Amino acid sequence: MSIAGISELAAELRRIVGPDGVLSAAGEMLVYECDGFVVEKDTPDVVVFPRTTEHVRQIVLLCRRRQVPFVPRGAGTGLAGGSLPVGGGVLIVLTRMREIVEINLRDRYAVVQPGVVNVKLTERLRGTGFHYAPDPSSQGSCTIGGNVATNSGGPHTLKYGVTVNHVLGLEAVMADGTVCEFGGPSEDLPGLDLTGALVGSEGTLVVVTKVWVRLTRDAQSVRTMLGIFESCDDATAAISDIIAAGIIPAALEMMDHGILEALEQAFHFGFPLDAQAILIIEVDGLEAGLDAQRERITAICQAHHAREVRHANGPAERIALWKARKQAFGAVGRISPSYCTQDGVVPRTRLPHMLRKITEITARHGVRAVNVFHAGDGNLHPIVLFDEKNADEMRRALDASNEILDECLACGGSVSGEHGIGIEKIDFMPKMFTADDLDAMSRLRQAFNSEGLLSPKKMLPTAGACSAERSHPGRRAAV
Ligand SMILES: Cc1cc2nc3c(=O)[nH]c(=O)nc-3n(C[C@H](O)[C@H](O)[C@H](O)COP(=O)(O)OP(=O)(O)OC[C@H]3O[C@@H](n4cnc5c(N)ncnc54)[C@H](O)[C@@H]3O)c2cc1C
Repeated sequence: MSIAGISELAAELRRIVGPDGVLSAAGEMLVYECDGFVVEKDTPDVVVFPRTTEHVRQIVLLCRRRQVPFVPRGAGTGLAGGSLPVGGGVLIVLTRMREIVEINLRDRYAVVQPGVVNVKLTERLRGTGFHYAPDPSSQGSCTIGGNVATNSGGPHTLKYGVTVNHVLGLEAVMADGTVCEFGGPSEDLPGLDLTGALVGSEGTLVVVTKVWVRLTRDAQSVRTMLGIFESCDDATAAISDIIAAGIIPAALEMMDHGILEALEQAFHFGFPLDAQAILIIEVDGLEAGLDAQRERITAICQAHHAREVRHANGPAERIALWKARKQAFGAVGRISPSYCTQDGVVPRTRLPHMLRKITEITARHGVRAVNVFHAGDGNLHPIVLFDEKNADEMRRALDASNEILDECLACGGSVSGEHGIGIEKIDFMPKMFTADDLDAMSRLRQAFNSEGLLSPKKMLPTAGACSAERSHPGRRAAV
C-alpha cells in the first residue's frame, strides 16, 4: 500500500477507535511482524486496537470497502505464524477487549471478551470452587480469543480436553461485517455445530468478539509426582504403561535433559542434571483412591527403572513444579538465540521411537533439539535451536523440523496437536488430508469469508497459500 494510502486508512481507523487506538509508523510495526514463529516475518500496514464489538464491526466494514486484508491477533504467542499479516493489511489486535463480562457459577459458565488473558480468568475464579480448564503453558500471556482460534490444549488436556470442549458459544464479527452469535450459555443446542467449526479456525472464518466458556468444578484432591529417569526410553515406556493400566492422569508431561539444563540455568529449580528425563504426573479427583493411584504410578515408574519418584509435598511444591514446566519454553532463551517449536502428535507407544528419531534427524542436520511436551497425549514439542542471523543454520533447523513432522505422519500421527497450521505447516496439509477433504474445508471458508480478505494465505493451501507463494510476501528471518 502507498504511504498516502496507509495514512488515509490510519486516519479512518482513528475515527473509529480514537487517536490512541492506531499504530502506523514503520518502527512501531516491527513488534507485529511475527508471532512466536520467528522464522517468517511480514509487517502490517496499520495496527488497530478495538475496544468494543462495534469497533470491530466498523473496522471490518472499512477493510471491506477498501478491499484491504485484515488479520485478528491476540497476544501473538502463536507458534505457527497464524497472526502474520501476509502481504500487509490491517492487524486487528484484540488485547484491549479484556473484560470478564459475567461469571455465573450456578449455571457454570463465564462470558469473556477475546483479549482476556487466560490466567486472569483462573485468578478471578480462585476460591469459587470452579476453574476454566484449558491451561496452555503460555497462559500467563495468551488470550482466550487466541485459544479459541487455535483450539489450544495444555498440560491438563489429557483428562479435561482441549478448548473446543469448554466453549459453549461465541459472538463474532463475520467477514462481511455482520455480528452473529453461535451457541450460548445452554448446553446441547440443536442444528449444525457451527461453534465447533469456528473453534480452531485460526482467524480465517470470523473475528471472535465474545466467548461463553464452560466452568469446571475443582477436583476435591490432587497428587503431583516427579519421576526421574536415566533414559528417555524408560520414561516414555512408563507413560504408555500408566495409561494402559487404566489410569487417566490429569497431566503427564515430560522434559528431557536438554530442557532441564536450560531450566536450571534460568531458574535454579533444583532438577537433577544427571537425569535424562523427568515426568511430571498429576492425578486428581475424589480424595478416596488417590493414594492408591499414586502408589500404582510409582510402581510402574519403578518397573521402568525410575531412579526416584518424588511426591510433591503440599500446594507450594506443586505450584513450584508447574511453574518450572510452564517456564520451560522461556528458559530456552538461555541456551539459544532463536528456536522453532514443533507440535507433532504420535500414538503414545511410538514416543520412544520418535525421541530417538528426533535425536538422529537433528544430529544429521547439524542442529540440536530439546524436548518438553504433553507426553500423555503423545503431543511432542521438539524445540529445534538455531541462530536466526545464520541463514544456513536456520535452513538446517527447518529441514530437520520438517523431517520430524514427516516422521510423525509416518507413525500415523499429526503435524499439529494444538499450535495450529498457520503459515508454518501449510505444505503439510496435502500430506495429511485428501484433495476432497481440503476442498470441503475450502468451501466452508468460502461460505464465511467469500472475498478472502480475512487472514488470507493461512491454514489451507487451496486458498492460494503454497510454499512458492509464501516465499514471496513473507520474509525469512535470516535472509
Ligand atoms: C511459551 C509458549 C508456550 C505455549 N504453550 C502452549 C500450550 O501448552 N498449548 C497450546 O495450545 N499452545 C501453546 N502455545 C501457543 C500459543 O500460546 C497458543 O496458540 C495461544 O492460543 C495463542 O494465543 P494468542 O492470544 O497469543 O493468539 P495469537 O498468537 O495472537 O493468534 C493465534 C491465532 O489466533 C487468531 N486469533 C487471535 N485472536 C482472535 C480472535 N479474537 N478472533 C479470531 N481469531 C483470532 C490469530 O489470527 C492467529 O491465527 C505456547 C506458546 C508459547 C510462546
